[in-house]
Amino acid sequence: MKVPEPIRRFVEIFSELPGIGPRQAIRLAFYFIHRGQALQSETAGILAGLRGVKICKQCFFIYQGAGDLCDICADPRRDKSLIAVVEKETDLLSLENAKKFTGRYLVVGDLKKSGVLDTEQRLRLQSLKAWIKESLGGKVREIIIAVNPATSSDLIASLIAQELKPFAEKITRLGRGIPTGGEIEFADEETLREALTRRG
Ligand SMILES: [Zn+2]
Repeated sequence: MKVPEPIRRFVEIFSELPGIGPRQAIRLAFYFIHRGQALQSETAGILAGLRGVKICKQCFFIYQGAGDLCDICADPRRDKSLIAVVEKETDLLSLENAKKFTGRYLVVGDLKKSGVLDTEQRLRLQSLKAWIKESLGGKVREIIIAVNPATSSDLIASLIAQELKPFAEKITRLGRGIPTGGEIEFADEETLREALTRRG
């Protein structure tokens, strides 16, 4: 049975989204059809609005507004000698919500996908090194590798640590207190504060 072209296109795009496969995508398509035009138009508008969200050229987090930098990178009160390398924007948001970390970030990208650093992730690390070299005197006080503690990402975490070693007096790992395979994104604030305190 052939589905109409608009549904086929919808499924094609939406089944690419994280956590959504073809079955969920077609269910979503029917949901939107049943809910009618008001929700369809509103959703289309919300998606169009995302075009105004930009990627920070320094830490690769997202922001909205003028300039090249996100709110964190543009904030002079944030400690420039303390940098946390996180995988995903959602990890950064969780750490921010825990209200303990006062430094800067680098969003390196999801390390679970391939098990190796891809081109984009290499470029992001390169850009962090260049920033430390050109603007922060060649070395910062501490870089925290705050990647999710999974067995698969452990190797990459040490690789990143090794690469960044010349650029920090101290490289630490976050993750104590977060169970292996657990996600920073889903850890509660108390656990994250604890993991930050007991980093090493
Ligand atoms: Zn930034």
